[in-house]
Amino acid sequence: MAKRNQFCMQDPRTQYSTGNTHYDKSQPDPALDAKLSPGADHGEDSYQGSGRLQGRKALITGGDSGIGRAVAIAFAREGADVVINYLPSERQDGETALEQLKQADVQAWAIEGDISDEQFCQSLVQQTKDKLGGLDILVNNAGKQQFVAELADLSSEQFQKTYATNVFAMFWLSKAAVPHMPAGASIINTTSIQSYQPSAGLLDYASSKSAITGFTKSLAKMLINKGIRVNAVAPGPIWTPLQQSGGQPAEKLQQFGQHVPLGRPGQPAELAPAYVYLASQESSYVTAEVIGVTGGEHLP
Ligand code: NAD
Ligand code: MG
Repeated sequence: MAKRNQFCMQDPRTQYSTGNTHYDKSQPDPALDAKLSPGADHGEDSYQGSGRLQGRKALITGGDSGIGRAVAIAFAREGADVVINYLPSERQDGETALEQLKQADVQAWAIEGDISDEQFCQSLVQQTKDKLGGLDILVNNAGKQQFVAELADLSSEQFQKTYATNVFAMFWLSKAAVPHMPAGASIINTTSIQSYQPSAGLLDYASSKSAITGFTKSLAKMLINKGIRVNAVAPGPIWTPLQQSGGQPAEKLQQFGQHVPLGRPGQPAELAPAYVYLASQESSYVTAEVIGVTGGEHLP
């Protein structure tokens, strides 16, 4: 896989591989970046910060792998102290991510736990505040995606777990975080192109992403009287462990991302600058907004 060069002008269609037969391997949920083949680009070899988040304190869920890891690396290189959260079963990825964050010479911590539990969400915010001495940026990025082709096969248990992880956790974490956040703080949620173009087979996931889009806009209007901005990023098809662990049927992985106008899947590193922008003061006039990073599958 060609590595992204953050500043070098190049053809976006050929900046990364267009996908090939290696994409068909799958692994159990939650999958590990350590076992992802081909590997993903989180900007570890390319992202260069310029002090845009100097001294900010950030909590990023799902920061061990995929988009969350790329965002954590970018935030740390922009000068932010960072806490990442992930599941205990992802410790191998979490430790790799943490090592990369510490190289940026900022405070970096990992707090493991399951955000589909309300009490853990409250504890995660409290522990983050205790470790970092404050909280200025909350990135609600963790997500659960399991493809089920037939309605009859979609269990209530899966439907509830998807909503608890993708939607309720965002509510619990935001509610716990806001009392600690100063004016100028930023909440950034990861929604999806699936919020606007839902696929058959992703009924629970796609509808949870629509809920996130609505939640983002409503919360933005609720919190602007505190000077807190709330926005979302909507990724298109991005090469991460989520897709290899039942997010897509194994036979569809070979063509993953090739249907978009750019003709290839995106890489986590291509998402991070949108989160940096929304977290920084550069986006001071932007709230209740969704930024699409979709390879050309534009938002309505
Ligand atoms: P990923 O697997 O690397 O990240 C998802 C993370 O969610 C996991 O690393 C895990 O730490 C976390 N998570 C899941 N369940 C959890 C739980 N119960 N408690 C705590 N953490 C939990 O995959 P990714 O693609 O980087 O996903 C990040 C976000 O991007 C998700 O919200 C996903 O829905 C969204 N997204 C991804 C794509 C894509 O094509 N990859 C497209 C649109 C949106
Ligand atoms: Mg992970």
